[in-house]
Parts: sequence; C-alpha cells; structure tokens
Amino acid sequence: MSGKRSAWNGNQQTSLTDPSKKEKGDRVLTTKVETFNNYINGEWREAVSKKTFSDINPANTEDIIGAFQASNEQDIKLAIEAANKAFPEWARTAPSKRAAILNKAADILEQNADKYASELTREEGKHVTDAKNEVLRSAQTLRFYAIEGQSYSGETFPNDDPNMKVSTEREPLGVVSVITPWNFPISIPSRKIAPALIMGNTVVFKPSSDTPLIAIRLVEALHQAGIPKGVINLVTGKASDVGDLLVTHPAIKAVTFTGSTSAGEDIHKKSSFTTRTQMELGGKNPMIVMDDADIDLAATLTVNGGFSLSGQACTGTSRVIVLEKVKEAFLEKLIAKTRALKIGNGFEEGVKIGPLANERQMKNVLNYIGIGESEGADLVYGGRRLTEGDYSLGYFIQPAIFTNVHPTMRIAKEEIFGPVIAIIGVNSYEEAIEIANDVEYGLSASIVTNNLKLAHQFTKDIQAGTVKVNRTTTGNLMNAPFGGLKKSSTSTFRESGRAGLEFFTQVKTVYVGY
Ligand code: NAD
Repeated sequence: MSGKRSAWNGNQQTSLTDPSKKEKGDRVLTTKVETFNNYINGEWREAVSKKTFSDINPANTEDIIGAFQASNEQDIKLAIEAANKAFPEWARTAPSKRAAILNKAADILEQNADKYASELTREEGKHVTDAKNEVLRSAQTLRFYAIEGQSYSGETFPNDDPNMKVSTEREPLGVVSVITPWNFPISIPSRKIAPALIMGNTVVFKPSSDTPLIAIRLVEALHQAGIPKGVINLVTGKASDVGDLLVTHPAIKAVTFTGSTSAGEDIHKKSSFTTRTQMELGGKNPMIVMDDADIDLAATLTVNGGFSLSGQACTGTSRVIVLEKVKEAFLEKLIAKTRALKIGNGFEEGVKIGPLANERQMKNVLNYIGIGESEGADLVYGGRRLTEGDYSLGYFIQPAIFTNVHPTMRIAKEEIFGPVIAIIGVNSYEEAIEIANDVEYGLSASIVTNNLKLAHQFTKDIQAGTVKVNRTTTGNLMNAPFGGLKKSSTSTFRESGRAGLEFFTQVKTVYVGY
C-alpha cells in the first residue's frame, strides 16, 4: 500500500480543495488532478467501489500526480476473468504477431520517453535522467523478448528406436499475476510482462500504489500497439484489498512478484501448490574492500552502489566490509565523495540523491539510523532529515555512513532500503567472507581487489545470486539471469535474459512413433 500521504478518496471528484486536507503548516492542497482508470478487457474503467487514491510527488508533497482507482476483489475478479477468456486465442496467436505488438509498444515508449520520464520522476523521485534511461531500457526489454521469445523452444532427445522422435514442447501457463514495487516501476514490470506475453500467457498487473502512472503508460503503449482485449489487464489499489485474490484465484497459474521479503513470504504461503511463483525480494548487499584494492575506486563504487536511487535499489550496497589496514584511508575518501553529492529534486541539474519514495520509507530509514546510534555504531556522516527551504516539501534525508559497526547489530543484518552504509572492519579475507555470508539475504555482492586469485575465490565463497568484482553491487544486464539466494528470492526461477522465459512456460514431453 502507498506510504505517501496519499488520500484514499471516497469518490471520483478529485480536486483536492478540501481544507481538511490541509498539510504542512498553512499550505492548502488546491491542485485539480486527472483521474486514471483500471484497464480491464481492453477498456479503461472505474473501480467497482468508485473510490480513488492520490499519488503524491515525494519531492514536493503539494504536487498531486493524479487520482487512481482504489480497486477491490470485484475488480480483480473481472480482470482475471477477462485474462482467462483471452488466453486460448492469445496462446494460439503467431509468435511473430505477439512480437510485433511488443515492438510497437517499444516504439511508443521511445517516442514518449521525455514525457514518461518526467512523470516517473514526479511520482517516484529519481533523477529525470535516470527515469529516462529506465523508460528506454524498458523499451529495449520489450524488443529483447520480442526476438528472444520467438526462438525459445524445447529440445529433442536421441533414443534407441529409429522410428520414434522424442522432444519437449514449451507451452504458456495461462493467466499470470504480475505484482511490482515502486523503485523501478517500469523496468521491473517490463521484464516480467514482456516474457509472459511473448510466450502466450495473459496478464493481470498490479503495480505499486506509489507509482501507478508509469504502469498505466506501459499498458497504454501495449493498448495502442493493438494488444487484443483481455490479454493484459491493470488494476490499481491496496495490496490488502486486492492482493489475496491475485494470488489465490484458481485461474491464476503463476505469480511473479518483486518486493519485500515479508510480502513475498506471505504470497508464497498463500499460493496453491499448483501455482508457480517467482519472488524477487530484499537484500543486504556487501562490498568487500581488500587491502590491495584501488581505494579511490572502492569509495566511488560504494557511493554509486549505496547512494544512487537514494539507496532504494534492491541490489544497493548496504555493508562495506573493509580490511582494517585500509579502513581509514577508505573512509576519508568515502566521506569526501559523499559530501560532494547534491541532494534535491530529480528535475534539478546535477542532483545525485533525490527524496525517499514515500513517507513510510523516510520514517523507516530514520528509524534505522536511530537504531544504529543506539546500538553504539558511530554515525560519522549525515543521517538527518533535511527540512530547510524546498527540502521542507519532500522526504529528503542526508546519506548516512556508520563506522564501528558490529556484524551482529541490526543495521548490519536487516534490510534498510535507504542511503545508509554500515562499515565493518576486518583483519582477513576469511573473516570478511564469514561476515558477508552471515545474513539471511543473498541478492548481490562485490569485492574490490587486484588479486586475481582472490577475485575468483570470492565468486565461489560468496552466497549471492549476483557476484561482482571491481563493480558496484547494483546493476544487471537485461540479457543475463537475475535473482538471489537465501531469502532474496524463492529458489525457483530466475528473471531476465533467456532464463526469464522459462518461468512463463511449462514443458510437455512428446513421443512420436512413425
Ligand atoms: P512491498 O513488498 O511493500 O510491495 C511490492 C508490491 O507488492 C506492491 O505492489 C504491493 O502493493 C504488493 N504487495 C505487498 N504485500 C502484498 C501481499 N501480501 N500480497 C500481494 N501483493 C502485495 O515492496 P515495496 O516497498 O514496493 O518495494 C521495496 C522492496 O522491494 C524492498 O524490500 C526491495 O528490496 C524489494 N525489491 C526487490 C527487487 C529484486 O529484484 N530482488 C527489486 C526491487 C525491489
């Protein structure tokens, strides 16, 4: 559910002029906002409840992006029924036709990239350059699957019977639920929806309530590209109102989810054993800095991996495990580079750290900073909310650096999902690995070293689904598999690349005697 101060409005008339909505001192919200609908069976429709919620700019909470449908299970039911009805024909549609729709939708995203990037920045807070890159990457993801999906097929198996052919065929699953977070609100949906559609599945998509507009733009692009009715459906609303049916309805054959580990566990428990699930969840990603490392590079990688997207990347660096011998030199560089980061609205030139995405996020991060201090770690840089001038309108906090962090502290163990870095000093590679692995997550990890032997050793020793050497913990290619170990993913199917197609197909083994 949205943690912004989003009003859940009782009707469709959403000009927020009611003085009871007065917030932040004397300011009154007077913005007239556009209302956006669900997309069900090829039509843009109001929710059955006739209620809406507001999507608010986290850099300026007086700016309301729009009113979106506060759906309930009746809307989900309609969407699932539409998707179920559309499935047989879509599954039979020629792959080249399905691909043509993805390619056309990609064209539309590219043609509108500037507009959609602005909207994304307004609703989520990331810098507009990053937002544009995300929109363009999503277009590329549609194109990637348009090609890759057309050649994804089964295998043939040699056998002893000269008059028999044995092969596997890959078939679509049926109706798939796509449930996504706000931090990459178009690229994550694209890397789930594109492989689902190209393999012949139909989709019910529930985006985060913090970023519903960019989700609507993606679905609009597919609509304009000519996708048949019912093949993709979008329903906005609170997880508590729509989440259960998205997971438990008997027509749902698979759930692909990205979000918090707690929500992922909940969904996994609720799904029937015949429902396939794919969960991309939280992380507590370490970077190990060895004493032979290029310290300047290590500090840059930490800043980029830990503070880009205001620390709100699932693969963001949150622990730096550094050899004592170089710890002070590393810290000095890290603080200097962090001090140089401009914090502000994502529309401003040169801004590197935007607001946190919603109020709940900001409170959670500030709470963890308090926990770190009370646990006895040293807050050597930042960690305070910014409230002066324009900052007072948004959820801005300074990036935080803690030193003297003990590996058993909560800030060293739990996902914070904000711009907070815990520095842990160690005396050997072995100690570093032990600490790096001693958390319940295993999403991404990196080592900074010039020792080739150690670099290769690290790729074997570390418990993470993405392993990097002399690179940030963040970032993954669209053509390579992505996923985590331990509580960072269910140990089932990877996303991205060719591996991302596997989840959306089932295998039939066919024996033909002739
Ligand atoms: P969240 O779990 O609160 O919500 C994610 C989505 O799931 C939203 O659309 C939400 O409405 C829905 N949802 C929540 N609970 C649900 C339930 N019980 N049933 C059905 N739907 C439910 O996560 P968030 O705050 O949007 O995103 C931040 C989290 O996402 C972080 O933990 C981060 O690590 C994780 N994340 C993981 C990856 C990855 O690929 N591993 C990528 C991005 C974000």
